[in-house]
Amino acid sequence: MQKHVDYIIVGGGISGCVLGYTLMKYGASVVVYDLPKENKCSTAASGLWNPIVLKRMKKVWKADEMMAELHAVYPDMEVWTSVKFFDPISIRRVFHNAEEQNTWMELCDSPAFSPYLKDCISPLPDGIVGKFESGRMKGTGRLNVLAFIEAVREALRKENSFRSEHFEWDTVVRDAEGLDYSDLRAHAVISCQGAQMALGETVLQQEGFAPVKGEILRVKLDAPMENECIHQKHFMLSEGNAEVTVGATYAWEGFNDGPSTEKREELEQHVSKVWNGSSDTMDHLSGIRPATKDRRPMVGPHRLPHTWVFGGMGSRAVLMAPYLAKVLVEHFMYGTDLLEECLPKRFY
Ligand SMILES: Cc1cc2nc3c(=O)[nH]c(=O)nc-3n(C[C@H](O)[C@H](O)[C@H](O)COP(=O)(O)OP(=O)(O)OC[C@H]3O[C@@H](n4cnc5c(N)ncnc54)[C@H](O)[C@@H]3O)c2cc1C
Repeated sequence: MQKHVDYIIVGGGISGCVLGYTLMKYGASVVVYDLPKENKCSTAASGLWNPIVLKRMKKVWKADEMMAELHAVYPDMEVWTSVKFFDPISIRRVFHNAEEQNTWMELCDSPAFSPYLKDCISPLPDGIVGKFESGRMKGTGRLNVLAFIEAVREALRKENSFRSEHFEWDTVVRDAEGLDYSDLRAHAVISCQGAQMALGETVLQQEGFAPVKGEILRVKLDAPMENECIHQKHFMLSEGNAEVTVGATYAWEGFNDGPSTEKREELEQHVSKVWNGSSDTMDHLSGIRPATKDRRPMVGPHRLPHTWVFGGMGSRAVLMAPYLAKVLVEHFMYGTDLLEECLPKRFY
């Protein structure tokens, strides 16, 4: 018997999970398709959110709107799933020179930056090597991505809204009103397939993606590090029990090769430079970020009828997904405007 559903979501990474929840919150029914074992990107993510590009001390595009939505949505999703995954922790920027320190203090006086920067210079914590001191951020944190995805899948399963199956795009049958897929009749289908839209065997190719490979290490230090994230060239994120995640790297090739010796060495050298002690690498992961050519997300209608794209969030899906999901869902529900700069058609 055919089952009616408002939206089919293809992909259950950070984007698909946040979008599925948002659609349901606004009263729509969803079915999410995902193959957990193929999840290449969200399972490698460290889950940090940060509204400032620390290298350049510039705000992320629409940072204030995104931070407001993030702080509302993830705690709501914790209540929905009864699982804790939202972890506000401070990000500390270690300065490389006196000029960076002065810039920090100047920005603390600016209304645009003051909500996110602590108005003081702090000494480096125990174990961290550096010639200069550091500045600490406010409102930042990390989403425990693995716990988050597992919790959302479980909550969706309870509503009969999750299918651990590969979605076969070439068997979708579209008509004037909507589409048929397997036993489902849906109003529309939304691709949240991450970099798979650019790399994969999917028939739903979308121009404009420029995937970026990233790698991280899980490292055991010889002494505990403060419960925070320390950002120098790379970040070092406390995981408790003297364990840290170190990352992330960037590469524009080797998408099928998995973790590489070269990047492992780069990250291990970083740890030996910034940590005043010994360390052991315990794990090494890689993933492909769904970045785009102009670094803007991809949110809007695909060329095919009743078909939408939600993704392209590069290295910031945790920060961006709640706000962008609201924009898309309110467009579906109330006909409000989409964001011009995110429309997939900008690449046609
Ligand atoms: C090393 C590393 C560190 C990172 N750190 C951070 C960080 O600290 N903070 C942050 O915000 N971001 C971080 N990112 C980026 C973040 O991981 C991505 O932005 C995010 O995972 C993208 O999520 P997504 O849901 O769009 O795509 P994905 O996580 O790639 O999810 C897509 C899903 O779609 C599924 N899929 C694809 N095709 C099909 C199909 N036909 N049928 C069924 N399922 C399908 C895949 O199996 C996958 O599960 C990091 C990335 C890397 C690589």
